[in-house]
Amino acid sequence: MNLQDPDLFRNAALIGGQWLARPDMAVTNPATGAVLGELPDCTAEETLAAIASAETAMVEWRARTHAERADILMRWYTLMLENTEDLAQILTAEQGKPLSESRGEVAYGASFVRWFAEEARRINGKIIPSPTAGKKIFAMKEPVGVCAIITPWNFPIAMITRKVAPGLAAGCTMVVKPSDFTPYSALALAVLAERAGIPAGVLNILTGKPATIGATLTASPVVRKLSFTGSTRIGALLAEQCAPTLKRLSLELGGNAPFVVFDDADLDAAVEGAMQSKFRNGGQTCVCANRIIVQSGIHDAFVAALAKRVDELRVGAGTEAVDIGPMINTAAIDKINAHVADALDKGATRVTLPRDLPSHFADPVVLAGASTEMLLAEEETFGPVAPIFRFETEDEALALANGTPFGLAAYFYTRDMARAFRFGEALEFGMVGLNTGLISSEVSPFGGVKASGLGREGAQEGIEEYLETKALHFGGL
Ligand code: NAP
Repeated sequence: MNLQDPDLFRNAALIGGQWLARPDMAVTNPATGAVLGELPDCTAEETLAAIASAETAMVEWRARTHAERADILMRWYTLMLENTEDLAQILTAEQGKPLSESRGEVAYGASFVRWFAEEARRINGKIIPSPTAGKKIFAMKEPVGVCAIITPWNFPIAMITRKVAPGLAAGCTMVVKPSDFTPYSALALAVLAERAGIPAGVLNILTGKPATIGATLTASPVVRKLSFTGSTRIGALLAEQCAPTLKRLSLELGGNAPFVVFDDADLDAAVEGAMQSKFRNGGQTCVCANRIIVQSGIHDAFVAALAKRVDELRVGAGTEAVDIGPMINTAAIDKINAHVADALDKGATRVTLPRDLPSHFADPVVLAGASTEMLLAEEETFGPVAPIFRFETEDEALALANGTPFGLAAYFYTRDMARAFRFGEALEFGMVGLNTGLISSEVSPFGGVKASGLGREGAQEGIEEYLETKALHFGGL
């Protein structure tokens, strides 16, 4: 990496405003396997120290005016944009995604900071007329308290700002545990947060083994909320760990998105949408199309057009001019290979050309003839695999689309307005894209139903997750 500001790359965790360096744990570049640096494996005691510093810092932070908190967040937003190139370099080095996508993630991540800086000034309560004369009820908004934030490796910047920005805007303080695979972008964000004027202890970043840190955060009675993004399995485990202390929970979990193309769809737009939804970040996104479900009349033309586009994708290190970088680790590659092998074994056909790639990379592939018996129908593949399921009727498409325990994102393409409403309403998902493959924005509520989690991030809903409502009853008026 050739950073304009090398100070953004910190080999240290941040606890109570102190940077703690200890070379316990190496972080590697997924494209090359080269070691990027070494970080502390924070202990339970260090986790408790971060919680204590967040508790102390909250006294002063929640007392600030909303306008002051908004101004500080706005400075953080500006600093993120000014340092886009360095943040993108760090992101690509540890996560692998192409630099152009890393720049896009910095902008997307920063957009949450700006949005919630704006929302900070609009945290209002209400006055409720009492049924009893001489009384009034004030419903006031208060910060939830110290929050634990645990985030995954696929969007290491945006997943943090989508949680931390609304929390800070509300007056909460934060203990963040980024993924072990991608801690450096979180630490760079924290350097910029310090420069923006976020006081010591308000934002703590712990690096290290997730089980110890997670168990300590969830067991603490001081921590009043957990916001987690990651797999459904770990989300359920953390919810269980939070039960004895009854914490507020936001859980952004796994998906298994259907992408339905009806005969009357605009073919070019549907192919473009499938490319955007399926192959961003090499298919390692929670909202990416996992099952492409195509009506028989348009099926062959769609498969041919999609395969042509996929054959044109460039695969390589994210620092080069590529469309798809390395996968995050060998476990990810193994899962992708297992899904493809299982599908081929059960009757699918590969319609894209095979490539000879180094071991850290996955072959982008279109598979025709997918069926519900295949592993890729049940689980997220989390890689550049596009299985095509064929259907005849709208009822069949709906049953296929909803036939999953997950309910995060769904997409469908049609030009029939009546069907747009009918089908859109019948889909059991938290987010639906109609004639678009892009649904992520700071202004729109983001989140799932069923096994995809609890709560919403972004939009006006996002800040409510960090606010409690207190009813203050005034008598004798
Ligand atoms: P994961 O294994 O559940 O990990 C997510 C985070 O939890 C990481 O920071 C991980 O740390 C940590 N973790 C692992 N075990 C833990 C434990 N016992 N206690 C506390 N924390 C623990 O998920 P992933 O494979 O990194 O991420 C991919 C998953 O995230 C997919 O299912 C994807 O759909 C989902 N996702 C959902 C959304 C959404 O908004 N709904 C967005 C992005 C991703 P380490 O990484 O250090 O192990």
